[in-house]
Amino acid sequence: MARLVIHNGKITDRDAFIKICPFNALEIKSGVAEVNSSCKMYRLCVRKGPEGAAEIVEDLNFPLFY
Ligand code: SF4
Repeated sequence: MARLVIHNGKITDRDAFIKICPFNALEIKSGVAEVNSSCKMYRLCVRKGPEGAAEIVEDLNFPLFY
């Protein structure tokens, strides 16, 4: 299953960044941008945000080697 990871170090304007999401799934908490449970994995923030700011990461729930 994939999840979204936010890399705050790549974001210069956090207010502008969180406005990219049409589902209000991006918010600022304690000064950093975070993704909340409203995320639909629409990936607009990945495409429209600063390069590397939002990343889709695949969770591997099975061993790579048997
Ligand atoms: S992946 Fe889509 S729904 Fe999730 S935070 Fe980014 S823009 Fe919003």
